[in-house]
Amino acid sequence: MRCPSITSDAAAVESALTVLSDYLSESQIEVGVSRSAAGVPTLRAHLAGPREGVNILLQGHIDVVPTDDGWHRDPFGAQIDGGHLHGRGACDMKAGLACFAGVLRALASSGGLEEGSVTLLVDVDEETGSDHGLIPYIAEHALSEFDWAICGEPSGLQPFLGNRGLLWVGITVEGAAAHAGIPGAGLNPVPVAAELVTHLQNRDRRTAGSPTGSAPFTVTTFHAGTVPNSIADKATFTVDRRLQPHDSTSDILSDLTNAIERVAARHPRFGITAEVIKRWPPCLLDEDSDLARAAHQATQSVTGHASFGFDQACNDASFLSEAGVPTLIWGPGDPALAHTSEERVALTEVTHAIHGYGLAIDALTSAQNRST
Ligand SMILES: [Zn+2]
Repeated sequence: MRCPSITSDAAAVESALTVLSDYLSESQIEVGVSRSAAGVPTLRAHLAGPREGVNILLQGHIDVVPTDDGWHRDPFGAQIDGGHLHGRGACDMKAGLACFAGVLRALASSGGLEEGSVTLLVDVDEETGSDHGLIPYIAEHALSEFDWAICGEPSGLQPFLGNRGLLWVGITVEGAAAHAGIPGAGLNPVPVAAELVTHLQNRDRRTAGSPTGSAPFTVTTFHAGTVPNSIADKATFTVDRRLQPHDSTSDILSDLTNAIERVAARHPRFGITAEVIKRWPPCLLDEDSDLARAAHQATQSVTGHASFGFDQACNDASFLSEAGVPTLIWGPGDPALAHTSEERVALTEVTHAIHGYGLAIDALTSAQNRST
């Protein structure tokens, strides 16, 4: 945590990765760093038994979001106070990474695995969308050897079966620039864009009663014009639409297109276009799967209570799941404290996580033994 690995700070992220790599290299674990075409590193640490068996992937990110002025402590001081470790990344998600690394070391020092394998994968640009780290890593290496994955994002150490995805769409309304004193000489795109914004906001697709929450179209940015005395030639805005696990992206995009066409029909002299900027797929693990059951039982055993949850944020579990690896989100730390100036993690939860991961890995291996 004392390495301020703020996302996009390549040197700081690299040195944090080196700390983790050095810790893991002290035992019989095979550790390597591969790089994407853009030179972005991904750490892989691998421990395999002599026989084939269940292959488990542990996954997390080492980058953290920047700090703000709200901090009353050194965000990179890693202070321990009141049973908590405080600082940026404590919760999201260096505690999870430390627990994964601790489990790998514990497995290695206790004689290693009898069969199967446990692999830790650490990427460095999750907070900016994983476009240059995990996504190209998966494209290049595939993940077909893995039976299960655990993403160690903060979940209060309760097993989260999935997370929402998102769609970001950029919308442009083309008009014609003119002097503001002669507005009839131009085509002002701002009122047309505002009409479309209002139309979209009124189409709030609230899914009341759904266990996975609601998902409206949310307008997040709006830009038009450069000076107060000119009519802009275009107005642009972005829409954020969160995706539930059973949402159809094509249905949502066609809803958006219909809304645009309705407004466009009223303003035929304006050009309105939409472009998908980012798609983050949602994911959902079957709660009857061996992984979900193993994590639930381990959580119950270690903390005394367990219940399945669902992550409202987007994280790398989506990309692992999309690559075909059934993935659970399960890590120490309160997700509500992630990205805040109160970020911290309870030390007891860290201890519980290491214990819980060990139990779950053991149970997954046993499940394989039962079925063979
Ligand atoms: Zn995170």
